[in-house]
Amino acid sequence: TRTINLKNRPTGKPGLEDFDFTSSEVPELKEGELLLKTEYVSVDPYLRGRMSDAPSYIEPFEVGKPIVSGMIAEVIESKDPAFSKGDHVSGMLEWKETQVAKANGLMKVDPDKAPLSAYLGILGMTGLTAYLGLTEIGKPKEGETLVVSGAAGAVGSVVGQIGKILGLRVVGIAGTDEKVEMLKSEFGFDAGINYNTTQNMTQAIANACPDGVDVYFDNVGGEISEAVLFNINKFSRTVNCGAISVYNNTELPKSISVQPFLVKKSSLMQGFVIFDFVEKHPAGVKQLTQWLNEDKLTYTETIREGFDNIPQAFLDLFEGKNKGKMVVKL
Ligand code: NDP
Repeated sequence: TRTINLKNRPTGKPGLEDFDFTSSEVPELKEGELLLKTEYVSVDPYLRGRMSDAPSYIEPFEVGKPIVSGMIAEVIESKDPAFSKGDHVSGMLEWKETQVAKANGLMKVDPDKAPLSAYLGILGMTGLTAYLGLTEIGKPKEGETLVVSGAAGAVGSVVGQIGKILGLRVVGIAGTDEKVEMLKSEFGFDAGINYNTTQNMTQAIANACPDGVDVYFDNVGGEISEAVLFNINKFSRTVNCGAISVYNNTELPKSISVQPFLVKKSSLMQGFVIFDFVEKHPAGVKQLTQWLNEDKLTYTETIREGFDNIPQAFLDLFEGKNKGKMVVKL
């Protein structure tokens, strides 16, 4: 079977040269293990962090070892009583076509309840990140204004829709006119801003948010976020979910000019990782499922095909080539 390994720790922007493909025999199955055939692979911006060895909340990948991410796989053979041949499972698995994995830590997913890829997005990590980040930290209230950066992505597109369900005015920031149009027509955002074609982002946000910004859900960091923060209201809340605009920087920005403004506005900023809310995940999935079933929530995916294309799909996240959740189907 084939495996994709980390070949080098990239400095700056990663490339295809940082991955390599190897082949090996699939080992014998032991008690408590499953033989799995990969069906869907999640590619996520946070994997960039794991390619580096800078200290983080999660272990770095080892050079020469497989990349690991959220995946959906079919059980081909089981030596665990809780799983049977033909089941589909979700979990953190290695980028391999076929693999043996411990059953412990994998979760059964039901293809009759939702398309399998949805368990990596709307009903998985990114859906939960959107829901729990917004509600637990953003504490949105009806009638307030919510701004979302990275709005057309997996997390952002869900954050905006939940904002609408909860009765907020929602403004999204994304990288193309087509994405901005999609925010409004498919996801019900009230307004959108293309950061690539807008000269003065601070002014554009002021125009789109006549009552100021009460909640900022930040997926991108950097200059876009500074522009949003210059428009925040008294007692506003910023959810620091991600900072993709700086993940490939070799040096971080030295000062944050907006800080004195945060003081004046008694504004709260809090980062989080989705594991902080682990005990709330089941209730989160339940809520997201209910909204999907009631047609209050919808989602989009960018599905690439083929094992060989996993690294490119990952790299394309940094070029904004996805709409909604990026997954690779094998
Ligand atoms: P997305 O689906 O949003 O994909 C990434 C998107 O980021 C691209 O489509 C692109 O859209 C945008 N982007 C890329 N480069 C830049 C840039 N330089 N400036 C501005 N935007 C850029 O990914 P996810 O939804 O999976 O993740 C979104 C964010 O949430 C990431 O920062 C991620 O690390 C974070 N995250 C955090 C979690 C947590 O537990 N805290 C969990 C999951 C995700 P565009 O065309 O608009 O530029």
